[in-house]
Amino acid sequence: MNTNVDPAELAKFSELAHRWWDTHSEFRPLHQINPLRLDWIQGFVPLKDKQVLDVGCGGGILSDAMARAGAQVTGIDLATKSLKVAQLHALETQTPNVSYREVSAEALAAEKPASFDVVTCMEMLEHVPDPASIVQACATLVKPGGWVFFSTLNRNPKSFLFAILGAEYVLNLLPKGTHEYAKFIKPSELANHCRAAGLDVQASKGLQYNPITRRYWLDGNTSVNYMIGTQKAA
Ligand code: SAH
Repeated sequence: MNTNVDPAELAKFSELAHRWWDTHSEFRPLHQINPLRLDWIQGFVPLKDKQVLDVGCGGGILSDAMARAGAQVTGIDLATKSLKVAQLHALETQTPNVSYREVSAEALAAEKPASFDVVTCMEMLEHVPDPASIVQACATLVKPGGWVFFSTLNRNPKSFLFAILGAEYVLNLLPKGTHEYAKFIKPSELANHCRAAGLDVQASKGLQYNPITRRYWLDGNTSVNYMIGTQKAA
């Protein structure tokens, strides 16, 4: 029995699951940042022929792109509807080498420790009760010397203004209630979880959005949405 899950969070995503692949839906931001994060990851570890796990894969936006980049991808999530959508999309678009499973990161870590060259866990930690437990599971799942990438939202007045007020109430980029401020994670907190799990933080990057041009880009400013790249000791 996995306790590290918030049923209300899964319900939120299940409700929208049929729109995962609609690039003009609530998931537009994820579609728009997808090439940026894929490129950033591949700057550290080219994904071709790698065994990759995508934790909290949702409808498979990143899993699918990583498989198309040549990786053997397993996507996991606990929202049944999202996984069905991900599977159907792979079938319809004939994405090679991607499969999806309904299993928690913690349960898979017990089943298959040290099995993946790369683990990704994007925009997910801020939706779980115990993010440190997910970080630990990712560290267990990756092979020695392998890479684990996380992305989440920073916690400070600016991230409240941009990620909640701006994105949910002013620009309507995301449905109201998508994010809960108290669950946002400071880079220092995430780094602590990583170190405790045996992951060395190698790099971090901020994601920025211009509401006028409606474009995203990466830079060094991690004050709102950010990614980190970590490596397990060889
Ligand atoms: N990683 C994807 C989707 C992010 S949305 C992307 O960046 O494109 C957050 C996802 O986390 C949703 O699909 C939701 O169902 C999933 N999620 C929330 N709690 C979870 C948990 N405890 N275990 C696994 N997935 C979870």
